[in-house]
Amino acid sequence: EKEISMTGGACRSCGASLESAVVIHHSIEMPDQLAESRSTITSDEEERQRLGYEVTRHYTPSGTRQFYVVGDPGEPLLTISYDHSGKIVSINHGPIPSDKDEPQSGFTLCTACNRWIFGKDGVKDHLDPKNEMKRCWRNGTEENIIRNIVLYTNTRHDVVKIDVPTLLDSEGNPLDEELYRSFFTTLAQAIIEGVQISMNVGVDEIRYFLMPDPQNRKKSSIILYETSEGGAGILESIADHSTFHEVIRQALTILHEYDEKKCDRACYECLCNYYNQFDHDLLDRKLALPLLRDLLTPGIQTVPDSSPSAKKMLEDLLKTCESSLEQTVLESIYLAGLPLPDSGQKVITEGGELIARPDFAYQENGHSIVIFVDGPDHDNESQKRDDEMKRDRLDLMGDTVFTIHYRDDLQVKINDLAELLL
Ligand SMILES: [Zn+2]
Ligand SMILES: [Zn+2]
Ligand SMILES: [Zn+2]
Repeated sequence: EKEISMTGGACRSCGASLESAVVIHHSIEMPDQLAESRSTITSDEEERQRLGYEVTRHYTPSGTRQFYVVGDPGEPLLTISYDHSGKIVSINHGPIPSDKDEPQSGFTLCTACNRWIFGKDGVKDHLDPKNEMKRCWRNGTEENIIRNIVLYTNTRHDVVKIDVPTLLDSEGNPLDEELYRSFFTTLAQAIIEGVQISMNVGVDEIRYFLMPDPQNRKKSSIILYETSEGGAGILESIADHSTFHEVIRQALTILHEYDEKKCDRACYECLCNYYNQFDHDLLDRKLALPLLRDLLTPGIQTVPDSSPSAKKMLEDLLKTCESSLEQTVLESIYLAGLPLPDSGQKVITEGGELIARPDFAYQENGHSIVIFVDGPDHDNESQKRDDEMKRDRLDLMGDTVFTIHYRDDLQVKINDLAELLL
């Protein structure tokens, strides 16, 4: 409920409407469920199983992502971000109605007996005291019935977001916008199969969904995520040169690139499987092949976060800098593609006593990494003693102290910092 009320019912990342206002009042985080096993199911239930549920997924990036470009950074073929702690909100909008004209109406709950009620006549039967089979055993009334509930889960995962800046057809001309959805669905399916084979992971370990690009609603971002919460570290290596090229090579292999017999658009030998049956009409391997061929060899580079919010944050932090050396350090952090500090020149106190004022600080789960950038004025003996005392104190408080001295090799220091942060 928090997530949805914070965003006013719209996904913060893609701007998509999460649900209408009525439903937002009735969104609940997926509660623990009690299930019972039975040997037979009713026809209502069978229908429900066949049609399934309407589930949408949304991705909200954490503050610490790593960005990569594949190919010429000026004109990249792909941009990739890796997020070790990306938030995935899955929203279950309820059973898909068996009658096409029936609106999607979410879940219905009886609060008297805490049971979910399904089916067209479900509520009527449940509230009917004469219905021996289906009536509420706690004598629920209309007042106990809540309709239009959507269920959601809000979990953190290893997430890789892939964007294609320029979509081209096989002749190198701009791709027809009508084919964008087919293109992204096919590319996502090919990449995920490439990941499964090259990294030897199961079908259930990594999934994907498409998220509309807020800048151009016809375009999508491909969101790959590890299904286990916390992440098993499978996706972390996707931007390693050899891993990435192997993923692409496997994707091309799956798309019959090296086969003599090839299907026309898609088949069960390549892209089609049971799980993506609703997308079979969209799959067309020829749409993804030109890009995949181009992705087989190019270099991958780490790049800074170029989003407006990151640039604004850099600007604000630069203003807190008290020396040009501090500015240089900050810019190097940014250009290395590392997360930006959470604060600059923030005073650290303990019980009202001023302890220190580090030049930059990162806050992570109640733990801080504090950075001191020491210019020549820190070389004199009394300053050195003072610095040491303060920093020992921070160390005792549980903070990680990271010092960059003006005579240090800055690149080495940035690499050390990267290891601390990522
Ligand atoms: Zn979204
Ligand atoms: Zn009931
Ligand atoms: Zn095929």
